Amino acid sequence: MPELPEMETYRKLLNEQIAGTVITGTEVTREKSINVSPEAFNEQLTGRTVWYVERRGKHLIFHLDNGKRLELHLMLGGFLFFGREEDKPDRTAQVTLRFDKGNLYFMGLRLGHLHLLSVKEVEGALSKLGPDPFDKRLTSEKFAALFDKKRGSLKASLVDQHVIAGIGNCYADEIAYTASIRPDAKIPLLRDEDWERLHRSMHSVLKEAISRGGYMDQPLTATDVLTGGYESVFQVYERAGETCGRCGGTIEQIEVASRKAYLCPGCQKE
Ligand SMILES: [Zn+2]
Repeated sequence: MPELPEMETYRKLLNEQIAGTVITGTEVTREKSINVSPEAFNEQLTGRTVWYVERRGKHLIFHLDNGKRLELHLMLGGFLFFGREEDKPDRTAQVTLRFDKGNLYFMGLRLGHLHLLSVKEVEGALSKLGPDPFDKRLTSEKFAALFDKKRGSLKASLVDQHVIAGIGNCYADEIAYTASIRPDAKIPLLRDEDWERLHRSMHSVLKEAISRGGYMDQPLTATDVLTGGYESVFQVYERAGETCGRCGGTIEQIEVASRKAYLCPGCQKE
């Protein structure tokens, strides 16, 4: 599932392509991906200008000139492509937004959605999200306080969007590894210095991933060379059996709160 760095890469590249441009038409092949009828969707979007695209956690919000918003969550398997029909990947688009410059295709939206909402509805839909990892007010102390009442494992809370928004399975493991803490470490046992390390690691891992375009394997446009550059940088995620770059130990896969987790038992401590 795309996480903060992947959605941030989409946000950046989409703004370059469509900010300030007009939607000239829409096409919907899967009604369940949207929240109104395809006719109403088309009527309300055609002729509207997209002012800009914003990211919140793993969501993207398209700001339209009539005060409405399109709220996107890709969930598992969702991805985007912007360009001409002939350059598009050979996959069905559940929703297409047409622009003069090209089409924006929403694909793999089996679990994901693209909802047309008012400002108030967007705020309601996203009201339970925890803070963004890059929120300037989120100091190391405030970060640690997010986990105050949590009793379970570190990973279960790192991926909980109500605690902090944007981190999923993949970056939770990378952040725990960078901080030298096991993903199954019990939260009440973590000390102040562990939280400081986790806070620093969260920033360094996510910043590096953003700068390398995240891990999505499908480029956004035919000329996009940014997307997916982080795939080869993973230290532990999906690397079970490989050698740890830090201590030479062997990376293992374990289960934490019914999720897979990857770690190096040699250099990640409880
Ligand atoms: Zn190691």
